[in-house]
Amino acid sequence: MTRPPIVGAPVWEAVMTAAGDRCQCQGACGKKHTDPQTKKPGRCTLVNGQRTSKRGVVTLLATPRDPVNEGDFHIAAALPATRLIAFCPDCYDGVRRIIKRAVKQLPPQSDGLFAAEEYRVDPASKKQADVGAA
Ligand SMILES: [Zn+2]
Ligand SMILES: [Zn+2]
Repeated sequence: MTRPPIVGAPVWEAVMTAAGDRCQCQGACGKKHTDPQTKKPGRCTLVNGQRTSKRGVVTLLATPRDPVNEGDFHIAAALPATRLIAFCPDCYDGVRRIIKRAVKQLPPQSDGLFAAEEYRVDPASKKQADVGAA
């Protein structure tokens, strides 16, 4: 399992207060969180301290609102509460899974920081001919 971002207690408290101690996932994890009453997609119902058969007592995580760019452990630890969101472990895992899958679908990054094109000399260019003549 990916290690969840760990933030300081005061930041965590602020995030949980803003969230009403309830998971703020509205489907980002891939689940619809269908409201049992309205049958419409809603918000995850897990709250801090709730006991589930799978996880035991749930403790919500303070995780970046932008997990793609700020999901890195070190970045997340330095974020203010306003940049964080409360997620239950299940939703957190779901989001990580979706990001992982999306990253895999991206074309591989070229390993050079500079465009290689710029430094390639066309064999037929005059430059090359000059070098040969020198
Ligand atoms: Zn959740
Ligand atoms: Zn969710």
